[in-house]
Amino acid sequence: MHAAVFYGVKDLRLEEVPDPKPSADEVLIRVNATGICGTDIHIFRGEWSTKTPIILGHEFSGIIAEIGRDVKSLSVGDPVVVEPNITCGSCYFCRLSERNYFCENLEAIGVTINGAFAEYVKARESNIYKVPREFNLDEAALIEPLACCVRGIDQAGIRAGDAVAIVGAGPVGLILLQLAKQAGASMIIQTDMEDARLKLASKLGADYVVNIKNEDPIEAIRKLTDGYGVDVAIEAVGSPKAITQAMRATRRGGRLLIFGVSPQEAIWEVKPFELYDKELTVTTSYRSPFTFQRAVRIAVSGMVRLKPLISHVFKLEEIHRAFEIAEKKLEGAVKVLVKP
Ligand SMILES: [Zn+2]
Ligand SMILES: [Zn+2]
Repeated sequence: MHAAVFYGVKDLRLEEVPDPKPSADEVLIRVNATGICGTDIHIFRGEWSTKTPIILGHEFSGIIAEIGRDVKSLSVGDPVVVEPNITCGSCYFCRLSERNYFCENLEAIGVTINGAFAEYVKARESNIYKVPREFNLDEAALIEPLACCVRGIDQAGIRAGDAVAIVGAGPVGLILLQLAKQAGASMIIQTDMEDARLKLASKLGADYVVNIKNEDPIEAIRKLTDGYGVDVAIEAVGSPKAITQAMRATRRGGRLLIFGVSPQEAIWEVKPFELYDKELTVTTSYRSPFTFQRAVRIAVSGMVRLKPLISHVFKLEEIHRAFEIAEKKLEGAVKVLVKP
């Protein structure tokens, strides 16, 4: 099959590789579309380490092409999405049943084992979720980031009527916006540096948008909240600077969700007194523990609109251009998809 194989920093090669062979409890999936995620960009730039060579791509949809002999719940031809995280079921954390992905033997399709920037990918039956035939399979590729955002919204603890600020209007910022609205936020202020993304934020329900290139976001947020700051602030960028902005946007006694994934070596400088003085609740969000089923329901119900987030669709042969557009946020890029 054709695949884009990652060999090391900025070294992505289109190659012919053997088709994956599903074992008894796995299925082979013909990939429909794969999203480029911030994680892929981190790995591509060398900001996150992984074993190489590897086929990246963990946000994908496809159609089942072959099933292992023990697979009971799926058939050839089923349209599906895949939870990429694979737990062992027997380590300390798996036995603790924290319903999280702290598994000591955790693998992830497209991060530690071969993923979906390819024609085919294999996955375990227990990681697969069917989507209705009438649901658009390109949009379905965004169910993985949606599942991560569902975890984030659970962690954010938004109450009915809360004022919420979201720092960042990339794909996850725009999904979190829609989930925050559904969770009962009465006012949402979204910030970013790209006007195209902020325009999309307004379209998808942001009450106010602030371009931080033109305006001080903290001042703007204070002004919109009678000088107090928001009840809940969500950082959806993955940078210490953005975390500080989100922290400063909260009111005293507020909540901060650090959702974006910063580079592994980045350091967040914070005055502990500021946290104390605000009695700030700081929370984070790790992957998508048992949120996939809900994410499928949310996507299929239309509660969250995914289609407007797809800004670019490329063929697998054009993956270098696709990565460039996603990495440098060119041409108003939001979610960039690659199709084999
Ligand atoms: Zn992702
Ligand atoms: Zn485990």
